[in-house]
Amino acid sequence: MKVLVIGSGGREHALVWKISQSPKIEKVYCAPGNAGIGELAELVAIGPEQIEELATFAASEKIDLTVVGPELPLTLGIVDLFEKRGLRIFGPDREAARLEGSKVFAKEILKENQIPTASFETFSDEASAKNYLGELPPPYVVKADGLAGGKGVIICSNRKEAETSIDEILTRKAFGSAGDRLVIEEFLAGEEASFMALTDGEHILPLASAQDHKRVFDGDQGPNTGGMGAYSPAPVVTADLHQRIMEEIFKPLLSGLKKRRIRYRGVLYAGLMMTRQGPKVLEFNARFGDPECQPVLMRLKSDLVPLLQATAEGTLDQVDVEWEEDATVCVVLCARGYPGSYEKGKKIGGLENLKGWQKGFVFHAGTIKRDGQWLTSGGRVLGVTALGRNIGEAVKEAYGAIGQIHWEGMHYRTDIARRAIERERATSGKEFIAAS
Ligand code: AMP
Repeated sequence: MKVLVIGSGGREHALVWKISQSPKIEKVYCAPGNAGIGELAELVAIGPEQIEELATFAASEKIDLTVVGPELPLTLGIVDLFEKRGLRIFGPDREAARLEGSKVFAKEILKENQIPTASFETFSDEASAKNYLGELPPPYVVKADGLAGGKGVIICSNRKEAETSIDEILTRKAFGSAGDRLVIEEFLAGEEASFMALTDGEHILPLASAQDHKRVFDGDQGPNTGGMGAYSPAPVVTADLHQRIMEEIFKPLLSGLKKRRIRYRGVLYAGLMMTRQGPKVLEFNARFGDPECQPVLMRLKSDLVPLLQATAEGTLDQVDVEWEEDATVCVVLCARGYPGSYEKGKKIGGLENLKGWQKGFVFHAGTIKRDGQWLTSGGRVLGVTALGRNIGEAVKEAYGAIGQIHWEGMHYRTDIARRAIERERATSGKEFIAAS
């Protein structure tokens, strides 16, 4: 089989790494990929938004399966286009991808199907949005409707801040047309977890649980990023919560989508808040989370390719999935300045020491190779991902490997999975292994 992976981050490196281990695979391509991915796949210089060119490439190279990493091509309708041309592709079509592409749409579906989420209202005019703040206690959560590069959710501690955010989104158009509408919702307190499942529109195959870390500095300080690290399993998702997430969220969501004649095929990612009343939905993503994809795929024992095929073909009920009992941890190494403007072109040292690393792998997110030298080229540069008998051991393994890597201005969090280790100690690991 020939597989094409679309995207260029750590998530896509993990996908290519896992796909290329499949005995079914003859060749893997990645468009556009990065230098690290180039060690495993043939890179194709087509951007993820060039969906026509991607379809032409897939047809001319006789690609058997295309796997979409990021959300942008999904919301542009890459799946609709490939299917129209008779090309097999993994991911939801444009209508289904609106679960990620429009927060208003996602909230409507949630409400329609009585799925637990923060109470909310939708607005397109400033005065009514500001008026609504009077009905809520602070903090206020203001969300631009469309894709805003992870910056469209603003948590405001007081009414003045919330009014400024409304102004920024609706009037000043800080996020362009993604801010034609906004959602104001109740603030939810609790611990967050992400839950990913494969679905072919009829059947749901949950993936191992995972948790990411959004803020740039230790102790969840500083601005939000694309993700500074992740681990799997997430001890917060106990066996009981796992079942509740399936029964109260995923199953009603899928039947709600079916009622609207929307067929969702691909990965469905739910960002959840574990509140006192139980799990509530914060957001949906229509693709694998990054970096969560890295620790989750490292725990996958089964061949990924039949799972992706079954999802795309609607036969998920005919496949099984097996997970490593070991835990995994991914620590993201990023460039100085990230998530603001960041440095590029710094020489990365030490990667050669980790070539034969038995208990982990370094996924590349933003690197180039020039004259045999690895250089930084993105905000998130590497995802150092390690296995261990439990999360504590995986953490030690990951940070041990990081000790070998260096470049000027390299930054990473030193507290990835700390909360999970505490929980792991408290439960001797029994509770969450059952849920993973
Ligand atoms: P989202 O993109 O909707 O997941 O929002 C990004 C982040 O904002 C989440 O990971 C949460 O940390 C936070 N967040 C979003 N909605 C809420 C909410 N209703 N209450 C508290 N925090 C929230």
